[in-house]
Amino acid sequence: MAKAAKHIPSDRERAFIAQVENAKYDRQIITGLKKFMEGTVPQDMQGFYTSDELQAITDLDGTLRDIQARMPVKITRHYFEQAQSSPAMQTLIKATPNETFDLDGAQDPGKQMTYSPVEGLIHKYELGLIYVASTCSAHCRFCYREELIAKKEIEREDGTSAPKGLAQISEIVAYIVEHNRLVAQNDGRHPQTGRERLREILMSGGDPMVLGNKNLAQWLGALAQAGIEAIRIGTKELAFFPQRFDASFFDMLDHFHSAYPQVNLRMMVHFNHPDEFLKKMPDGSYVDHPEGGLEWIESTREAVKQLGSRSWINIDNQSPIIKGINNDPDALRIMQRELKRNGIENHYFFCGRDIVGHKAFNVPIEEAWHVLNESQKGLSGVEAHARLSITHYKGKTEVAAVTNEPMLGVPGGENGVVIFKLLRSAADAPDRCKVTIVGRNPNAIWFSGYDDRVIYDEAELFSMYGIKLAAAE
Ligand code: SF4
Repeated sequence: MAKAAKHIPSDRERAFIAQVENAKYDRQIITGLKKFMEGTVPQDMQGFYTSDELQAITDLDGTLRDIQARMPVKITRHYFEQAQSSPAMQTLIKATPNETFDLDGAQDPGKQMTYSPVEGLIHKYELGLIYVASTCSAHCRFCYREELIAKKEIEREDGTSAPKGLAQISEIVAYIVEHNRLVAQNDGRHPQTGRERLREILMSGGDPMVLGNKNLAQWLGALAQAGIEAIRIGTKELAFFPQRFDASFFDMLDHFHSAYPQVNLRMMVHFNHPDEFLKKMPDGSYVDHPEGGLEWIESTREAVKQLGSRSWINIDNQSPIIKGINNDPDALRIMQRELKRNGIENHYFFCGRDIVGHKAFNVPIEEAWHVLNESQKGLSGVEAHARLSITHYKGKTEVAAVTNEPMLGVPGGENGVVIFKLLRSAADAPDRCKVTIVGRNPNAIWFSGYDDRVIYDEAELFSMYGIKLAAAE
């Protein structure tokens, strides 16, 4: 596709953007480890890394196991303050040499470049994901976009290699308009790819909330003008710097809603642990709210309240289940209950992806299922909506069930089975809800851990790689 010319906003976009004010934010970010090593971080941050921890990390600088080259280190003041009393948050944000002990993993998890017709756009299903920022206010060590944030060279479909680039408004708008034009001309399906109308865009990265209000508004206006019906903003800013959700941001959203009232906004938020939003007592326990539930950190609670007061905004949380952070049923139970009580849907929990170095973070698939299942015991139906998903190259897949008992009479099912359900096929909607059953392997952290024990493969999660049913071998 030819490079599109500079985006020319419509009068409606222009009128909307003209009303938007940028604001200044002081996130007090510490980037890298140098300031920790030199002792130039604020006094109260100086013990956050011990000198032994810093030495062990920097010993690896410049080697294949370079920790900061794998994923740059970054933390906000807000996150640091919460993390002081939270081992889980410290594990999430602090670099350790463990991260590069085993560098097994995919350079481009989910083979995203296969679905990237335009730089910075991943087009799957009826949804497009765009990279609008290549950083976040802080960096999770387990990040599954480490290749984007660390600007690693990724092999493209044409065999060349280059870091992943950011989406440009003009190119994305041109792609959406052309795709939808062809779909409309062809009875609702794209003539080459068979895909439906592109009606939903997820703004992602990195974190879109690191952009200024005007930049966000340019994206929102352009996407709405291109005919997008729902815009998602994927963000962990409620955990890293909730003060970003200030009056100027909500003014921008309200102006957007006045200009494009038909467009639904979906905030896809990212809390991994209740320590990220709940107040704690000196003994580590949470603080009961006098009117029920638990007390939230004021700035986070206010941001969520403001989002929730707008009927055209949905708020959904999604989180991977990560070793040492939230593979803890009690923490996940509290988190799901409190999020729902405050108007945030529990959307998905994820098994960690097969990123480079994933063995340092990923919980075995069956353990993740067990943790989520245990966490949902005692929750009401509406609190326990979240499913456990694992992203297969073919599409989003649910870990639907793990049996504890042998499946008698089923070869390969002697130790019980795991049932995967394809929730959405990236290429082809009719494959939805097809099922694959494998014999249990409690150590499996990725699909490959089941290659030798496939019992039934209607969803073709294994046969697409030529892996046969175990009974057929
Ligand atoms: S917020 Fe998301 S994109 Fe940003 S570092 Fe964490 S996992 Fe990565």
